[in-house]
Amino acid sequence: MVLADLGKRINGAVNSALSNTQDDYVAAVDVMLKSIVTALLESDVNIRLVSSLRNSIRNTLLENKNRSMGSMQTKKLVQKTVFDELCSLVDCEAQPFQPKKKKQNVIMFVGLQGSGKTTSCTKLAVYYSKRGFKVGLVCADTFRAGAFDQLKQNAIKARIPFYGSYTDTNPVKVAADGVSKFKKEKFDIIIVDTSGRHRQEEELFQEMVEISQVVKPNQTIMVLDASIGQAAEQQSKAFKDSSDFGAIILTKMDGHAKGGGAISAVAATNTPIIFIGTGEHVHDFEKFSPKSFISKLLG
Ligand code: GDP
Repeated sequence: MVLADLGKRINGAVNSALSNTQDDYVAAVDVMLKSIVTALLESDVNIRLVSSLRNSIRNTLLENKNRSMGSMQTKKLVQKTVFDELCSLVDCEAQPFQPKKKKQNVIMFVGLQGSGKTTSCTKLAVYYSKRGFKVGLVCADTFRAGAFDQLKQNAIKARIPFYGSYTDTNPVKVAADGVSKFKKEKFDIIIVDTSGRHRQEEELFQEMVEISQVVKPNQTIMVLDASIGQAAEQQSKAFKDSSDFGAIILTKMDGHAKGGGAISAVAATNTPIIFIGTGEHVHDFEKFSPKSFISKLLG
């Protein structure tokens, strides 16, 4: 996944700008910026972010204006400025919650159907279980037929204890029962998978509020499909309003996602990405690092 070959484009833009307008640095910078802006917009980065990014790159370049600078130095400066600016967009200051051993940590997942919630719940459970935590999974998705079976199969395969119900249709009650059972059994981390819908709906958000009120999560994680593009910003804002999530897991980073939507979602909610999903397998899961994420995006 790369941001519309941004790295290559920067090279091309710098080369052509410098060779055409050697003596007009400002004009050359503007030509370069135009190409960078196009690449970012094509990659689904939100237009407001692109515009502010453009201005800060422009300022940095003009402040560093040095006519004797060769094309290699200019190229490096442009690349570093773009890299730093993109990193600062996804590197938000809010510190995500860290579960503590010998405490009962409840983690609630939210997200639209198909975003990769159930898969990511199991991935996170395995991640913590490998690090010595006693982890249980609760399926509070009573909306989608087969949701409990899916979580159950994943959990059995990964050897993670699970809770769910085939008969109870009240997600709030199932969530509360599951959390209470695992708390009694002294589990360190209880992960609650919730229902999704194909699109954002008032009822879904209401359900998230109610579940959250009974399970009182220490952390709420929104799962976001990296390939949804421009919709990411609006979707994450809507979930932020209803469930005030404190972290994001970005899934399907192995696909053809353009990545700009993810950047916009983080910037819009000032919420850190904590992990990325890089495949369907339980181990296709990486801790998020802003620098390596942006390096990959730049190709
Ligand atoms: P949910 O409806 O949000 O619970 O989504 P699921 O966990 O059922 O995932 C929907 C589909 O996306 C499934 O086919 C998963 O195997 C797949 N999936 C989830 N995460 C990833 C990922 O990181 N990469 C890829 N390629 N597929 C994923």
